[in-house]
Amino acid sequence: MGEWAKEVKAKLREENYRLTEQREIICDVFVRHPNRHLTAEEIRNAALEQKHLGLATVYRTLAILEDIGLVKRIDIGDGTSRYEYVGADSSPHCHLICLRCGGLRGIHWPATEDVEALLRIEGFDIKDHSLIFYGYCPDCTEFIAHDGSETHRGGDEDAKG
Ligand SMILES: [Zn+2]
Ligand SMILES: [Zn+2]
Repeated sequence: MGEWAKEVKAKLREENYRLTEQREIICDVFVRHPNRHLTAEEIRNAALEQKHLGLATVYRTLAILEDIGLVKRIDIGDGTSRYEYVGADSSPHCHLICLRCGGLRGIHWPATEDVEALLRIEGFDIKDHSLIFYGYCPDCTEFIAHDGSETHRGGDEDAKG
């Protein structure tokens, strides 16, 4: 058992949860996709290699993992959420969301720790923070530059081979 699995197991035990098969499978998906931000569907699809899990089971398990602080949910604003593992070896980062493709990536930004430290001096007991930047990823920036403005997207009249 790797360090990661030990951490998950210890944390679950601490919170009086058992490491059930579905919890282990879902945690394993995060291990196989480090530093990724996954949707519940992506997690279910990745879990298929091991076992078929219903989407409701995936959501329920993610809610428990979120509850005990092992998984963080990022609401990306269009009704979907992405999930990432936030255990001992995860580093603080902020998020960038692409307005065209919905892609999400994390950028390490140590300054957020300074901001938290500053707020503590101000007397705030900071537990968490969320910082999301919206824009276009490099691929989409290039696409928009070559195919004209975004407003032409989906138009039939200028469809070319
Ligand atoms: Zn994009
Ligand atoms: Zn992240």
